Amino acid sequence: MREERVMLIVNDDHLRRARVKSLDEWCPYCSKALAAYPLIMSDESEQNVYHAACALQLATEILVDLFTFFHPPAPYAPLFMLTQPSSAPNREGGDYALNGS
Ligand SMILES: [Zn+2]
Repeated sequence: MREERVMLIVNDDHLRRARVKSLDEWCPYCSKALAAYPLIMSDESEQNVYHAACALQLATEILVDLFTFFHPPAPYAPLFMLTQPSSAPNREGGDYALNGS
């Protein structure tokens, strides 16, 4: 079913299936009218349609943010928090769990 939720929109039929009523609707990324194909629909819980270029920009920003999180520039040290709720049994870590529980 996941394949049906990620949709590249290249014609009016696709647009109707994505529930876009008008190309005057705004792209949630750049706040400009959708206006032109191709568009792309996200698979977030809230259905959004973006310009394909905006979706690419958004994905790139997420990747950069993730990279910065795992490899922060000096003088910042990487911050990792690998913890589990103490009430949850550790099924996967077993005796090798990081928190020793
Ligand atoms: Zn846009």
